[in-house]
Amino acid sequence: MTVQPIVDPPARLVDAVADARAAAVADAAADLGADVARTAVGEHLGAVAEGPGAVTHHFAATQLGYHGWRWSVTLAAGDDDGPVTVSEVVVVPGPAALVAPAWLPWEERIRPGDLGVGDLLPAGEDDDRLVPGYVSSDDEAVEEVALELGLGRARVLSRTGREDAARRWIDGPHGPASDMARAAPAACGTCGFFLQLAGSLKAAFGVCGNGYAPADGAVVAVGFGCGAHSDVVLESISPVAVAELVYDDGVDLEPVS
Ligand code: SF4
Repeated sequence: MTVQPIVDPPARLVDAVADARAAAVADAAADLGADVARTAVGEHLGAVAEGPGAVTHHFAATQLGYHGWRWSVTLAAGDDDGPVTVSEVVVVPGPAALVAPAWLPWEERIRPGDLGVGDLLPAGEDDDRLVPGYVSSDDEAVEEVALELGLGRARVLSRTGREDAARRWIDGPHGPASDMARAAPAACGTCGFFLQLAGSLKAAFGVCGNGYAPADGAVVAVGFGCGAHSDVVLESISPVAVAELVYDDGVDLEPVS
C-alpha cells in the first residue's frame, strides 16, 4: 500500500481499505446495479493522505469504458476515538486513462473552412490582424474621396494580417511550390489573365481571370502558373509520319496433288 508522505494520517484511516471498498461498491451499485458493482471496484491501488484527518483510497475501476480510471474514496476521522466516515466517492481518471482533450474556447477551436452558410464569425476588438482604417470626416466630399481610395472601412488589414495572408497564399495550392506551378509553362506574373492586387501585396499576388484555369477567381502568387497561361500557343501539329505502305503481292503456290 502506498501512502504519500504529505502528512502523517491516522493509521486506522490508512488501514480502512475494506471500509473504503465497501463505500465504492455501494456507490457503484446505485448507478450500475448490485451485480455489476461487485466487480466494478478492482484492486486497491494505494492511499493518499489529504490532511491530518483524511485519507483517500484508490481502487482500479474495472467497469467497461473506464480503462485507466479509478475509484477514489476519501475517508475522514475527527479524533482518536471518533468514527471513520466517508467524505466522498468519485471515479477519477488515472495517469493512463483515456480522457477528453483540454477544453478550448470556441474562437480558438474554429479552423479555416469551418464557417458555413449563414454563420457569423466576428473579428474581436483586439484582433491583431486588423487596425483602424482612417479617421472619418464630417465632410461628405472627403468621405466620397475616401471611399474611392478604399479608405471607407472602419478597419483594414494590419501588417500582421497582411503577412499572415501572404504566408497562407504562398504556401497554399496557388503558390509557386504547388505541383501545378512546377509543371506550368510560364508564371502568372507574365500572364494576360493575371489581375494584379492593389496595395502592398500587389507585387506578389493577383487574381486569375481565366475561366478555363483551375485558379479562376482565386488569389494566385506571381510565381504560380498553369497550362492556360495566355502565352501558351499550340505548336502546329506535325503530321504523323505514315509508313510507306507495303503490299504483299507474292502468290504462294501450293502443289496440286
Ligand atoms: S491562367 Fe494560369 S497562368 Fe494565367 S493567371 Fe490564371 S492561373 Fe496564372
